[in-house]
Amino acid sequence: GRRALVAGVADDNGFGFAIAKALAAAGASVCVATWPPALNIFLNLIERGKIDDSRRLADGSLMTFERIYPLDATFDTLADAPEEIRTNKRYAERGDFSIEGLATQLVADFGEKPLDIVVHSLANGPEVKKPLLEVSRHGYLAAVSASAYSMVSMVQRLGPLLRPGGSFSSLTYMASERVIPGYGGGMSSAKAALESDTRTLAFEAGRKFGARVNVISAGPYASRAASAIGI
Ligand code: NAD
Repeated sequence: GRRALVAGVADDNGFGFAIAKALAAAGASVCVATWPPALNIFLNLIERGKIDDSRRLADGSLMTFERIYPLDATFDTLADAPEEIRTNKRYAERGDFSIEGLATQLVADFGEKPLDIVVHSLANGPEVKKPLLEVSRHGYLAAVSASAYSMVSMVQRLGPLLRPGGSFSSLTYMASERVIPGYGGGMSSAKAALESDTRTLAFEAGRKFGARVNVISAGPYASRAASAIGI
């Protein structure tokens, strides 16, 4: 069977969960990766049966996640995380939450070539509510780091783990190509980078790993992340 990793699932509301469910319904084993600050809440929701209705598949069974990994996609290696993050309670209890840590753990759990499908369904822009005219350099670079470079780093580190015919997908938003007031904080810039990088990554990762790389431009949807900005 195929195995998928969906990065950016922390509740039953976002695109990541819906994609995980569609993959599970199609017969794939699904692992997810969750941002450490959201991980405890997500595990509680699952344990207490709060998302059982959402987990139910057409055949009546409940979708299960083969693994739920901690992932902060702004860190390529654990050493890149600053001391205050590494010692933060939510992070410290989770082991190596970096992208490299995720790759290492996948190989430890399933062997050298554990994956067929990788989905990047995560984004973050700390100043998303600010129009570009008011965004700080720090906020802009944080948006690009979490929302665009995270994909580059995931393809670098998970590419070698893909079986033949494997694929990467990510999610973008139309604000990369047209002005959408409210989609601020450099998030429009991050999505433009993500889309451009997808073309280059497809060229490079196709040759290096035999992998496809695609990005889907999703319509507006009131996920947790989007509700915060009223998109
Ligand atoms: P969501 O809140 O369900 O998903 C975003 C996830 O990213 C959350 O689980 C969050 O915990 C995680 N995350 C944030 N920072 C992270 C980090 N540093 N490391 C790891 N994970 C981190 O919201 P969503 O709207 O389903 O977003 C999924 C993807 O879809 C994003 O790329 C988003 O930009 C894109 N998208 C959303 C819309 C929309 O209207 N909702 C439209 C087009 C594209």
